Amino acid sequence: MNKILIIEDEVAIAELEKDYLELSDFSVDIENDGKKGLDRALSGNYDLFILDLMLPGMDGFEICERIRENTDKPIIMVSARKEDIDKIRGLGLGADDYITKPFSPGELVARVKAHLQRYERLTAQGIARQNNDILHVRGLKIDRTSHRVWVQGEEKQLTQKEYELLTFLAEHPNHVFSKAELFKRIWNMDSIGDIATVTVHIKKIREKIEADKNNPQYIETIWGVGYRFKM
Ligand code: CA
Repeated sequence: MNKILIIEDEVAIAELEKDYLELSDFSVDIENDGKKGLDRALSGNYDLFILDLMLPGMDGFEICERIRENTDKPIIMVSARKEDIDKIRGLGLGADDYITKPFSPGELVARVKAHLQRYERLTAQGIARQNNDILHVRGLKIDRTSHRVWVQGEEKQLTQKEYELLTFLAEHPNHVFSKAELFKRIWNMDSIGDIATVTVHIKKIREKIEADKNNPQYIETIWGVGYRFKM
């Protein structure tokens, strides 16, 4: 039996969704608070999430992003305002579907079924989901399709080489690369070139993505060796 978690602070709506989903043989839990909802979502016990946007404790934007850092199970986001839905799409948080309130419970059940089937089909075929194009690490998000980078939901403008360097490091977490190696891989030139370029680019990336560039959380300097992306 598929298990669904509803994170919704309007109790009447949550109960209505639960009733309809249970009639379709789903097992359903409800959380009314954002933070508790996220904790429960991360327990790993659920096959699909129905997530309201405006919640006490923590909003749906952050919850969606945090769930996505941990699992690619389907997320259906719900909001009373269409503008919010457009905003969520724009942020590329990785939700699978969006529903505007009020909606018919029948529509919700149909979408839940469709997403579960799709997920099972993709998993069975071992096909990478579209969200594999998005790399999430502790508040840092890299979209490898559009080459965009966000930190805590705020988009950062990186140059092409900064983007390539950051993405390369993030794709090889905890692996230490020498400056010469990075120069060769990113600039496609022999390592006899100016490897100081790497240092300059790392500095620029840190200025853009780190809250405190002197105490970097993402790209760490390994003295005498090179750099590594901390996982
Ligand atoms: Ca709400």
